[in-house]
Amino acid sequence: MKYTGSCYCRAITYEIDLASPDDARTSVCHCFNCKKFTGTENGITAKIPRRAFTYMTGVPKKHESDNGSGALLTREFCADCGSGIMEYGAHAGENTYVFHGTLDDPMNVLPPKGEFFMKYKAPWMPEIPSE
Ligand SMILES: [Zn+2]
Ligand SMILES: [Zn+2]
Repeated sequence: MKYTGSCYCRAITYEIDLASPDDARTSVCHCFNCKKFTGTENGITAKIPRRAFTYMTGVPKKHESDNGSGALLTREFCADCGSGIMEYGAHAGENTYVFHGTLDDPMNVLPPKGEFFMKYKAPWMPEIPSE
């Protein structure tokens, strides 16, 4: 299965090539790092093997910080429009976490299967049914 995506200004485009949609696990994260980085209530990312992801156009800017969590996190984003493309921590291993909203068909592919950091979830956010 191939999935394409891009940043908001489309300077950066990418392709994800998975043997099966089950090779991705999308989740909703309510932690404060995700709130700050996305500027919204949560971050939705699809965890995939890093080797399945290829940048087709553009080169992302990288930001590295532990942001107080104690674990080094790298975020790759478009330096022109600011869209977050992916993030991966020191403990991500062979995986990376792609920001789900950058997929070209986010309403229909790789839906979330769970949530993280529920204690930071805003009381007005509905719960995601988990699998
Ligand atoms: Zn952009
Ligand atoms: Zn988070």
